[in-house]
Amino acid sequence: MTQQMKRIGVLTSGGDGPGMNAAIRAVVRTADSRGMEVAGIIRGYQGLIDDEVVSLGHRDVSNIINRGGTILKTARSEKFKTDKGEKMAVATLKKHHIDGLIVIGGDGSYRGAQILHEKFQFPIVTLPGTIDNDLYGTDQTIGCATAVNTALESIDKIRDTIQSMERIFVVEVMGNKSGYIALQVALGAGAEDVLIPERSFDYPSMIKKIKAGHRKGKVSWIIIVAEGAAKAPDVAAKIEQLSGLETRFVVLGHVQRGGTPVAADRILATRLGVQAVELLLDGEYGKAVGVLQDEINIVNLVQACKMPEKHIGEYLRILELLR
Ligand code: ATP
Repeated sequence: MTQQMKRIGVLTSGGDGPGMNAAIRAVVRTADSRGMEVAGIIRGYQGLIDDEVVSLGHRDVSNIINRGGTILKTARSEKFKTDKGEKMAVATLKKHHIDGLIVIGGDGSYRGAQILHEKFQFPIVTLPGTIDNDLYGTDQTIGCATAVNTALESIDKIRDTIQSMERIFVVEVMGNKSGYIALQVALGAGAEDVLIPERSFDYPSMIKKIKAGHRKGKVSWIIIVAEGAAKAPDVAAKIEQLSGLETRFVVLGHVQRGGTPVAADRILATRLGVQAVELLLDGEYGKAVGVLQDEINIVNLVQACKMPEKHIGEYLRILELLR
């Protein structure tokens, strides 16, 4: 029989992503309906160290389901990675009588949560809040679908120039060490090629294809580069040098992290937020919640930190086929 939790904490950590607010709302409202109080921690683990804690009630999360970013703000905290930082964070949790913590963040945030769970036996559940979709145990992470959509909207605009001015465009997208966003964007944009960290890349074969296409009258190309694979300016310079064709680049950057969350992210965040609170109530600690094949999936935090193998082969085959 687990002890009933009276007060739970929630924080967002690492890079912000669209849908984090929907997750916070679901956490607060679920806790409220189950008779628990919620403490919101500002600026992730850094806020725990700095004792930045606010009370969150039902009304505090009204009208945020559609808002990008995170009302709790987020941070990357180096201090939390130290013994002293960890202890200060735990002291804040104790000071505010927080019985369990919900962490919304990416793989780094998951590792931090694992430390609180393993080293301090603190009850923790995590939600995959990152645009990168690089966490094990879930088909999607909160924010990825919106980031892909945002990138596609930008590329649709760039495409007008690409077609009018007849040139090669190299577009760099986010994704940290994962090529998932790049592959999704490449398929959705109908791109000619993609550079991702998961596979080695050779310029000669790309240039050969570009030149062959050029001989047949092709005048425009879109090449997507994952930030973890290469830098768009370098790739563009190399392609121009080797092909002799005018090549431009654009780095989409943080624009992908912002904006109104699309339906898929709001719904995912809401489902996972509810589930996270219920896990804490059931005494299921040290777990990460996700969705696999549209069913809630729960894995141990240790496992969830690992980068999953996505089926990139199919994406690459399709790109080649439709080029
Ligand atoms: P995103 O995927 O958006 O980058 P993230 O959660 O992976 O999000 P990180 O900056 O890697 O972002 O991690 C967020 C915070 O989690 C770090 O600033 C740090 O406080 C904590 N953290 C990261 N890695 C560790 C670790 N190995 N041990 C303890 N804490 C960690």
